[in-house]
Amino acid sequence: MSMVDSSVERVETVTVIGAGSMGHGIAQVFAMHGYDVTLVDVDEDQLVTANERIATSLDQLGEDRLAVLDRLTTTTDQAAGLSGADLVVEAVPERIELKREIFEAADRLTPPTTILATNTSTLPVTEIADVTDDPERVVGMHFSNPVPLMEIVEVIRGEATSDEVLETAIALSKDVGKTPVVVEKDVPGFILNRINYAFWSEALRVVDDGTHDFEAVDAANRRLGFPMGPFEVLDFAGIDVFYMVCQALDDRDVPVVISETLEARVEAAAYGMKSGEGFYDYPAPGEYERVDISMERSQEYDPWQMIASAVNAATWLVDEDVATEEAIDTAMLTGMNWPQGPFAFAGEYGYDRIVDVLQRLYDETGREQYRPHDRLIEMAESEGPDGVAGDDI
Ligand code: NAD
Repeated sequence: MSMVDSSVERVETVTVIGAGSMGHGIAQVFAMHGYDVTLVDVDEDQLVTANERIATSLDQLGEDRLAVLDRLTTTTDQAAGLSGADLVVEAVPERIELKREIFEAADRLTPPTTILATNTSTLPVTEIADVTDDPERVVGMHFSNPVPLMEIVEVIRGEATSDEVLETAIALSKDVGKTPVVVEKDVPGFILNRINYAFWSEALRVVDDGTHDFEAVDAANRRLGFPMGPFEVLDFAGIDVFYMVCQALDDRDVPVVISETLEARVEAAAYGMKSGEGFYDYPAPGEYERVDISMERSQEYDPWQMIASAVNAATWLVDEDVATEEAIDTAMLTGMNWPQGPFAFAGEYGYDRIVDVLQRLYDETGREQYRPHDRLIEMAESEGPDGVAGDDI
C-alpha cells in the first residue's frame, strides 16, 4: 500500500535532479508557483548556468526575480538535495542505467511518501521504477522544452503507479500552470513522440525517395494551418533529438524506418537551429530566425498524407487504452502547436478519406505505419457518406 495521498497541498518541497535544458526549466516553474526547490547536478558549472538561465527567463516573463530565486537552492550534494523532498523530478541524460541509479538513491534517501517522477522522453517509466522498493510512487512527468513556455505535461502511469500518485502528479502539473495529458499505459514514445514519429517519418520518406523536397513539404503543411512545417519544427526541436527518439522506438520493437535524410544531417552534425544549420540555415548557432518559405510550392505535396499517418498512430493509442481521443488532440495542440488534434483533422477531412490515403500509402510502401487500423476502418464505416468533407483547403 502506498502511503501517498492525492492532495497537492502535501507537496511543498521539490528536488530536481539534473540542471540541463529541462531540469532548470522544471525547477523554475515550481519555484514560480511557490514551491521550495532544490536543483541538483553533478556539474557545478551547470548549476551556475542554470541560475543564469532562470534569472533571464524570469525577467523575460516579468516575474519577481528575487522572490522566485529566493525559493531556489542549488547543490552538487545529491543526498542532501534529496532529503526533505516531497516530490523528486529526475531530468538527467536519457540513459536507462543512469536513471535507475538516481531512482535507486531517491528510493533509499526519501520517505515512502515522496513522489518520484521522471522526465524521460523515451524510456519506459516501469523499467526505471523497477529498481525501487515501492514502484507505486514512481510516475512519468514529461515536460516539453522550453518548460516555462510549453503548456503540456504528459503524466505517465507506469505498470505499478498508484492512482493516488497519478492524481497528485496531475494536480501538481495544473498547480504549476500546465495542461496535464494522461498517458494511461507506459508505451514507447508515449503520445507525443509516437505521433511525431508517424507524422515526421512520412515527410522524411518522401524526401528520402526524392519525390519531393523539404521546402515544398513545409509549404504544403503550412497550408493546413500549421505554424511551421515538419522540417522547420525538426530544426527547431533538434534533429539529433528526433533521431534519438527513432532509435528508442526501434529498440523497443516499434516498427520504425530510420530516414537516410535524417541520418545524414546527424552525421554532418547539422542538428538545426542549435548548430546554426539543419534543413535550413540560421544566423548563428542557437539563434532562431523564422524561415521564409515560399507558398508557391505548397500544392506539390499532399499534407493529408502526414495527417493520415498521425491519425493511424493516434487510433492505435486509443485502441490500446493508452489515452482518450480528447487527450491526444489536446496533447498535439498544447505540446506541438498543431492547429487542431489528429481526430479533429480526421473529422474534418472524413475518416473514409483518411483510410483511403493510408491504404494507398500502404500499397505503395508496404510500411506497417500506413496499414489502416481496424478501428479506423470501423470509424470510417460508421461515419456515413463522406464525413464532413473538408475539400481542398
Ligand atoms: P541535458 O544534457 O541538457 O541536462 C542533463 C543534466 O544532467 C546535465 O546538466 C548533467 O550535468 C546532469 N547530470 C548528469 N548526470 C547526473 C547525475 N548523476 N546527477 C545529477 N545530474 C546529472 O539534458 P536534457 O535535454 O535536459 O534532458 C534531460 C531529460 O529530459 C532526458 O531524459 C530527456 O530525454 C528529457 N527531455 C528532454 C527534452 C529536450 O527537448 N531537451 C524534452 C523533454 C524531455
